[in-house]
Amino acid sequence: MGLLSNCKVCGKLLFDDERRTHRCPPRWLYWLPDEDETEEEDSRGVRAHHASTAAEMVAERWDYDGELEIVNSDGDRDLIVAVRKPGSDRVRHFRVSGRIEYIYSADEIDPDPQWTPYSCDGSGPRLMDAGEAGDGRDND
Ligand SMILES: [Zn+2]
Repeated sequence: MGLLSNCKVCGKLLFDDERRTHRCPPRWLYWLPDEDETEEEDSRGVRAHHASTAAEMVAERWDYDGELEIVNSDGDRDLIVAVRKPGSDRVRHFRVSGRIEYIYSADEIDPDPQWTPYSCDGSGPRLMDAGEAGDGRDND
């Protein structure tokens, strides 16, 4: 384990003992044709294991530099990203969209024995007197 710090080349967060074995993902050149960018004048680098991952990282970076237009659009706004691996002639284009996912998790807890979840008379949760709670069902 040890201290955490970012790789100076690819930016990945690494523990000290991971530095010896870490290999940066390959570099891709990218530009944004719909923003009137050209490879010759505007291409920049991003490191990723796959072309599609590179395009996703570009969109994420672009979103966080602005107003989260892509993820906040819930799929209505996308970004066209052109990607080329240095040394290859093949230019690949990706339409990248995004969305925000709400993720919930449930952890079981010990219920407070003083509370009954719902009363049957519609009054909602209420504090029960000792001995009144029973099995939680209304037996009137
Ligand atoms: Zn790296």
